[in-house]
Amino acid sequence: MQEINRLIELDRLYIWHPFTQMKEWSETEPVIIVEGRDCFIKDIKGRWYLDGVSSLWVNIHGHARKEINDAIKAQLDLIAHSTLLGMANVPSILLAERLVSLMPEGLTKVFYSDDGSTAVEVALKMAFQYWVHKGEKQRVTFVCLNNGYHGDTLGAVSVGGIDIFHSTFKPLLFKTRRAPSPYCYRCELGKDYPGCGMECLGALEEILSKHHHEIAALIIEPLVQAAGGIITQPPGYLKGLRELCTKYNILMIADEVATGFGRTGRMFAVEHEGVRPDIICLSKGITGGYLPLGVTIATEEIFNAFLGRFEDLKTFFHGHSYTGNQLACAAALASLDIFEKDRVLEGLQPKIKFLKDRLERMKELYHVGDVRHCGFIAGIELVRDKKTKESFGYIDRIGWRVAHEARQRGVFIRPLGNIIVIMPPLSISMENLERFLYVIEESIKSATG
Ligand code: PMP
Repeated sequence: MQEINRLIELDRLYIWHPFTQMKEWSETEPVIIVEGRDCFIKDIKGRWYLDGVSSLWVNIHGHARKEINDAIKAQLDLIAHSTLLGMANVPSILLAERLVSLMPEGLTKVFYSDDGSTAVEVALKMAFQYWVHKGEKQRVTFVCLNNGYHGDTLGAVSVGGIDIFHSTFKPLLFKTRRAPSPYCYRCELGKDYPGCGMECLGALEEILSKHHHEIAALIIEPLVQAAGGIITQPPGYLKGLRELCTKYNILMIADEVATGFGRTGRMFAVEHEGVRPDIICLSKGITGGYLPLGVTIATEEIFNAFLGRFEDLKTFFHGHSYTGNQLACAAALASLDIFEKDRVLEGLQPKIKFLKDRLERMKELYHVGDVRHCGFIAGIELVRDKKTKESFGYIDRIGWRVAHEARQRGVFIRPLGNIIVIMPPLSISMENLERFLYVIEESIKSATG
């Protein structure tokens, strides 16, 4: 007990937690995690919690998966890390081959970095420099969506659209053009889906038609704007957006950091609508949730624009210290093996159906305004008044109250404001999924009275 109290004290003394009001943190007792198994995590006091957010959307096959542990250990005995600047390494080569084989045709050139934010930074710089090499230096801006989220580094924040996180940094950001979010429950254009005929695409086209000559690329989270509130896009939206990018000759960047690796029920979200972006960003689930790794994959056409003589200075001058890290790449390869061996995507389909049915039931709850669902990602939007869609206030902290209730019942979730996020590891058993959703329902009832 003394050791536990010491650790709690040290955490309060020395750790600045992300996205956390530290004044409040220091007034409550932190949950200190010491172990994980399957879809559960255990704290230092021996309590187990169901990991309902997959350790922030990264875990795929559960914690302490033997195959991934073994792959990391085997790699560790060879070498943990050597640089990709001026050298190559085995796991990064093999992983690149595997990733390209899973991509829509034409995405063939793999650039490694460290996490989701850096995968996005790379994509933005790559797109910008591509146009420089094409002789179009005036393409200095990007199109992004309201409610979009692409990470916390300044380039990623520039193309973000969540004011509560991003507006403080406005003076530091580069210029973008923001299009409406396809948030049908609270349509920015005051329309109703499907009668609207997706007018939000029309609003996007207006921006593109006026400004395309100064736009390098459009960036989008395909199918689901996750951190913006699990905002799911209506069918056909993504395809329509791709068509507009083609029509106005701007690059399309698909940020699959949250949606990639099975989350939407297919390996990648873009597959659902047969869309091929020009650049794709991957991270989070790529290593099964074990180690940080970012990947940006571009087309041959983009890659070729950077080729030239040494003195032409067409090189992509970008690279991080841990680029192509062997341990992370070995974990990613083991994770992809599990996808194949366990037929993860097939096994997921009945769980997706079960989740969908349960969510339908939750729609009936008094304070549930909207339920959004895409594959194995779901968001439950809580409202004060269902008829008027009046929101709970920020200070009501309704999401946190639900999370607190769930924690008492042995389930760890992390809300996005008034939206309860459902994102367990893909490997969760049907039995645990049932228990998880039961706890969510009970916690909503309890927190909202
Ligand atoms: N893009 C998307 C779509 C994300 O959801 C996130 C993280 N939630 C990021 C980028 C940033 O990833 P990271 O936190 O690994 O930098």
